[in-house]
Amino acid sequence: MTSIFTKIINREIPSKIFFESDEVIVIQDINPKEKVHLLIIPKADTKDFFNTPAATLSMLNGTAKRVAEKLGLADHFKIVINNGFGQEIDHVHYHFLSNRDIGQIEFIN
Ligand code: AMP
Repeated sequence: MTSIFTKIINREIPSKIFFESDEVIVIQDINPKEKVHLLIIPKADTKDFFNTPAATLSMLNGTAKRVAEKLGLADHFKIVINNGFGQEIDHVHYHFLSNRDIGQIEFIN
């Protein structure tokens, strides 16, 4: 079944997108738990962290570092990955969180 994140990637449902490449999309979490709460989502749909190839995880890590640097949060963020436990959406994703107030986020190049 197509995940809600794949529908966002395919522009079938709207989302606030902050970064996009051929491999990944970074969006605003619709129900933010912190001042900054983004979701880093690979376009290739695997159901969870455990089942995601190492190369994809490496790409996601690099994206997280890029987002942190571009948002001025390199020293103040956390990544949360729910693998089965606490996971609502079966399409692997990283939660990128910070409680620092950085104001409005612009598109990240
Ligand atoms: P998880 O529990 O790790 O699967 O997290 C799923 C996350 O997706 C939650 O933080 C939700 O708030 C978020 N979410 C659900 N639907 C959407 C949506 N349409 N756009 C953005 N974020 C969403």
